[in-house]
Order: sequence, then C-alpha cells, then structure tokens
Amino acid sequence: MQKKSLFLLGTGALALLGAGMAAQAQEAPTREIVNVSGNLYRASNNTHHAVFLVTDAGIILADPINADFSRWLRGQLEQRFGQPVKYVVYSHHHWDHASGGAVFDDTAIFVGHENMLRNLAMPPADTALPEAAKAMDANDNGALEQGETSGNYQANFALFDADANGVISGAEASRGPVSAVRAPDVVYSDHMSINLGGEQVELLYAGVMTHGDDMSIIRFPSERTIFVVDWISIGRLPFRTLGTGMLNAWLNSIRMAEALDYDTVVGGHGQIGGKDGVTAVRLYLEELRDQVAAGMAAGRSLAELQESIRMERYRDWMNYEEWRPLNIEGMYTILGNETAAP
Ligand SMILES: [Zn+2]
Repeated sequence: MQKKSLFLLGTGALALLGAGMAAQAQEAPTREIVNVSGNLYRASNNTHHAVFLVTDAGIILADPINADFSRWLRGQLEQRFGQPVKYVVYSHHHWDHASGGAVFDDTAIFVGHENMLRNLAMPPADTALPEAAKAMDANDNGALEQGETSGNYQANFALFDADANGVISGAEASRGPVSAVRAPDVVYSDHMSINLGGEQVELLYAGVMTHGDDMSIIRFPSERTIFVVDWISIGRLPFRTLGTGMLNAWLNSIRMAEALDYDTVVGGHGQIGGKDGVTAVRLYLEELRDQVAAGMAAGRSLAELQESIRMERYRDWMNYEEWRPLNIEGMYTILGNETAAP
C-alpha cells in the first residue's frame, strides 16, 4: 500500500514539474544490507548490488553504484561498523555501478582495471555525435540541448554533460554518462591483490568481452566468494539484447570464472549463488546460441524464433518473460554478424 501511494505521489509531482524532473519524482529506492559470509556483506540499491568486506583496519567496498546510495552506505558503515572505507574497487566503469565513489574520497584509494582510464577519458573535442544521438539533434548543431534528448540521454543528462554547460557535445555523448565516476588512482593490467587488516582482496582481469574491456573479477579468498557484475548474473537472464558480438570471448571469460577457487558468487544483479550458478549462465548462453543457430540454418525468421525458442529450463530466472525474446534477438544479431566465428 505504501509503495502504491508513493508511486501516485510521484506521478502527480511529475505532472506538475514536467518530464525533465522524472528522475527526482521517482519513489525512494529499496536499500538493504545482507551478510554473505563472515565479514563480507552485500549492499543493495533496488536491483543493483555492491559488496563490502569489513576488516580491523577499514572497509573495502566493491562498486559505489551512485552518490545517493554511497552517502546512505557511508552512514550505515559508520553506524554499524565504525570503520571508514579504505578502498573502493571497481567491477568496471559503467555509470550505473561505478558512480558516486567520490563520497569516500577523504578516506579511500580507488582501484580498477587500467582500461577504465581510457574509457573514462574525454575523447577529442571535435568528436561527432554517435548515431543514436545524431538522430535526436533536431537543430543539427552537432550537440544535444536538453529539449532534444530522450531515453538514456534525457534520464542521465547531467551525467553526460561533464562540463555542466547545459549541452551534450559529441565528445560527451561518445564518452557516456560517466561524469560521476571517480577515476581509479591505482590500476592493474592482469591481476592485483590488496591487503588490509590481515585480509586480502584480489582483482582479476576478465578479458575483453561483449560487456566491455575493463571487467574485473573481485575475489575475497577468506570468504571463498567472488563478485562479478553484468556479464554473470546468477538466476537472472542476461541483460536484454546481450550487447554486441564477442560471444566466444564472453563464454571464455565465464570459463575463466568457473576455473577459480570459491564457493559463493555475488553479482551486481541477480541472486547470491554458488559456482554452479556461473556454469548455468554459460550453459544458458550455449543453449541459446545452438537453438538460434539451428533456427537460422533452417531459414526461420527472428519472430518465429522468438515464438519457438522457450528456454524452459530457465523459466524461474528473473526477467525470463521480458528478456527471453530480447536475448533471442541479441543472439540472432550476434550470430548474423559472426559468420565464421572460431
Ligand atoms: Zn555494465
């Protein structure tokens, strides 16, 4: 009931303030902290998850998610554990997991894969708008004014507009909505360990794959747990249309994760699970690939495949109804582009 009335209030406020204020009119996010094992906890902001390890010398946090969440989490950590965040480690650079870390600037060192620096760097000033943004540029001046935007550009306008001049330039659009991502101070290329308070955290490079080229596996050896974000989600279908290409690289990264030593997996989305949950993600992708490939070889259309490929074994996974047809569409595109994939 309470949720419902909050939602209605949000809708009313939206009508008063206009669509540009939509983000602020949404209902308060659902936040919680659950114990994973020992001194390792999962902290959630709606469907986005972070993890943190509490040691005698401070806290290691993986993924700040956003500034509001980080401010809330900082208060919780001070209240419950009386310890500052000493390290913020990043799963990857994407805005919806990596924003807001500056909340911990006064106490923390920031760590991520070296490719994050390039992915967060501003491209040259004369960079043209990407295709999707170009289509919104009604006055054809090569930049997006607020009134021209829709979708992601509208919802995250301020995160794109790094110089806060009220206009998204081609460079800002190409860079992405990452202006609230505090860049790492320390980067690594293949593997690194952080020691704090007698505990250890490892970052392992997951390789170039569909979801990006700065993905880390974050491993907590003492808790026999790994934290992985977006390219492995336990008990949840892969996101929408699967990103673009590089399916074999993605599968190899999952195999790499399967080969590590741990018992528990926490994802940036989905459920807390075991190593068999990681294997299940690979088997899902392989089954989807084989079924879509067989359908394409038999000359079936995408619409026919979306009707006939049911992936029944996975019907209990989150987002099964909404994303199954989108996953099929994504695989159809990937296989169509990778004609001679090894
Ligand atoms: Zn991501």
